[in-house]
Amino acid sequence: MDTETEIPDVCNSPEPSSCEVDVPNLMREEITDISLSSSGPSSSETVDVPNLLSRLKCPASSDLSRKRKLKSNPPKGLRSGKGSVAVEPSIPPSTRVKEFPNEHLSVVSRKLFCQACREPVSVKKSVLQQHIRSAKHGSSKKLLVSRKAQDKTIADMLRKYDKNKHPIGEGLSDEVRVFRIKVVKSFLKAGVPLAKVDCFREVFEESAFRLSHSSNLSQLIPFIREQEFASITEDIKGNNIGVIFDGTTHVCEAMVIVLRFIDADWQIQQRVVRLMLLAKSLTGEEVARQLIMCLSNELSVSSNQLVAAMRDRASVNNVAIQTLKIVYPCLLDVGCFSHTLDHVGEKINANVLDEFIKVLVGLFTPSP
Ligand SMILES: [Zn+2]
Repeated sequence: MDTETEIPDVCNSPEPSSCEVDVPNLMREEITDISLSSSGPSSSETVDVPNLLSRLKCPASSDLSRKRKLKSNPPKGLRSGKGSVAVEPSIPPSTRVKEFPNEHLSVVSRKLFCQACREPVSVKKSVLQQHIRSAKHGSSKKLLVSRKAQDKTIADMLRKYDKNKHPIGEGLSDEVRVFRIKVVKSFLKAGVPLAKVDCFREVFEESAFRLSHSSNLSQLIPFIREQEFASITEDIKGNNIGVIFDGTTHVCEAMVIVLRFIDADWQIQQRVVRLMLLAKSLTGEEVARQLIMCLSNELSVSSNQLVAAMRDRASVNNVAIQTLKIVYPCLLDVGCFSHTLDHVGEKINANVLDEFIKVLVGLFTPSP
């Protein structure tokens, strides 16, 4: 059972009541004496700093100030369980590896290591058997098998990609390349800028393969994009889909295309399949081209598979839909329902709020 002990903090920890009162006059004199002695106190006049700190008033912490708690075990006498450490028999770990061939055991630094659970395990047979029977080991084994299958798929796709593109680093081993792809994918998935990988590089490389500078790793993004498109193509296969598209000038001129469909478990799924940053706003013809290229060429959406298109009623989108209907005649054209809901808010009569927002926007508009 763990108990919590607060880390002593000189600034934030509750101090004796003496520190809450004003510094007495005598103390003030002492402090003045210390600060005035330019040559510093001699060895016989050593300042008792802890005593001084205990008498100085500490600032009161805000409720927002984080209280750090260190979880620690209770003292030895109060611990539950036997607390005895099993004595390791003098059996070579490789014997156990041969004895349990399907349990993903290996020898690391002359110790028996479970590759599935990623932890050292005992060579003592009864303890090892207990580990193998545990639910944790069972689920870790399944995870490891699926991870190995995933790695093999990535490696196979890499080989196909190499034949067409010959990217830099194609001569590296499959393990290194797959590891790098998984790292880049994790960063992209988490929405963490890839440049941050340089800060984590040392710790990532500690127990795995060598990485590279983030600028080199970014070269893997086109491959990941292809892989992602292959996965989306597989997801939407045989499903009716709807497409949503719109542009914004929020950061720069940008266009997004989103697909929506219902999966086999009747769950609504959504995939962003295009996010383009543009020099200028698109014409209707250009929007139609992007939609057809993305849906037909890249995702192999068949002509009767696209059943709906949702967009706002900007004239460029009217043109785009007319062109899109040539390839996808079954689609239902849905004028923007979201914008309709948005317009409801515009009709609410809130004069004070309008005035406030106007002033607020005016305040920040000139700022860089
Ligand atoms: Zn294990």
